Amino acid sequence: MKQILPGATLGVLGGGQLGRMFCVAARTLGYRVIVLDPDDGSPAGHIADEHIKADYLDKAALDLLASRCDAVTTEFENVPAESLRYLANKTQVSPSAESLEIAQNRDHEKKYALKAGLNPAPYCYIQTDADIEKAIDAIGVPAILKSATLGYDGKGQAVINNVEELVSAYASMNKVACVLEKKIDLALEVSVIVARNAQGEAVSYPIAENQHRDGILHISAVPARIDDVLADKARQQALALAESMDYVGILAVEFFISGEGELIFNEMAPRPHNSGHYTKDACVTSQFEQQARMMCGLTPGDTRLTSPVVMVNMLGDLWDPDWASLLAHPEIKLHLYGKTEARPGRKMGHFNVLASDVEKALQVAQSAFEELRNSH
Ligand code: ATP
Ligand code: MG
Repeated sequence: MKQILPGATLGVLGGGQLGRMFCVAARTLGYRVIVLDPDDGSPAGHIADEHIKADYLDKAALDLLASRCDAVTTEFENVPAESLRYLANKTQVSPSAESLEIAQNRDHEKKYALKAGLNPAPYCYIQTDADIEKAIDAIGVPAILKSATLGYDGKGQAVINNVEELVSAYASMNKVACVLEKKIDLALEVSVIVARNAQGEAVSYPIAENQHRDGILHISAVPARIDDVLADKARQQALALAESMDYVGILAVEFFISGEGELIFNEMAPRPHNSGHYTKDACVTSQFEQQARMMCGLTPGDTRLTSPVVMVNMLGDLWDPDWASLLAHPEIKLHLYGKTEARPGRKMGHFNVLASDVEKALQVAQSAFEELRNSH
């Protein structure tokens, strides 16, 4: 593969905060960036050199993007895979349409993970009413019903304690294809970001320990407070998964750690991940610079952690916070996404707290978050 070097133009499908942070990183490296996103006020559109405002299926817009870009990537996993396939006939595209299709469907991604030697929670695929009884017999309760496609931030999920609940949850999901998976007794949740280029060079980032609130990521702490053997295992498994898919780009892999210390695959995301935002201030190479490097066939950048760090998400519920008090902390790095409308649950920004150890970073993170909550 020919390397694509600074001065070239990179395209990104999707204009959310992940695309915005990609634009900043790619432009810092000296690339031009074009965003394709239907939304006028898209966070990435403000930062890109050019914003093509069009639907992801608009052929004329895809033609325009392909004609102007030396390589195209995505920041949004629900971009239609057929759009990537269409673009791939005209320019260099990563990750591939096939990788996206695997990650878009919970049944496919679990099958793939199993094949690559990872350990998903026991699950059954539900396609019709006839599958319900079989599924609950096989999985037992408590279980979690998840729509097979289009879930995010815990949406499209229900906890199931008996067959009646399963019947009604499945009906309230309009009987779309679902997976029923065993509810794991969670000791911890962690994630690993890996990066791989078309030449097969791959790297992994330090493990993030993730805490959620109401199904939405709240805090990522790095390094995760798990033993080295488990941390190495998670990094190796994530690399093996990327390898098995011949994946090119950034792949985020979420794991559960059970009460018994078992490492369980949850899901993957074919793009930079919220739990990797700590890399912006605490790694030699951020996940967004890495995304640009991978799509251009460059050598993977160093993933070394330069400081213990805690990332805290800021949702619309906090608006308008007292920025002066947050910025009075010298060890806090603020990242806002330029979204004008603050809705509850909407990701508006995050901050990273750097400290000499993760416990100290957690303390500062928690008190800074409380200050923000009390200030708005
Ligand atoms: P996100 O977009 O935040 O990654 P998502 O909607 O894709 O979320 P999941 O990652 O599958 O959904 O689940 C969201 C959260 O729900 C998990 O991080 C975990 O806290 C909890 N959860 C999901 N599946 C299970 C399970 N099998 N056992 C226990 N807890 C679970
Ligand atoms: Mg998840």
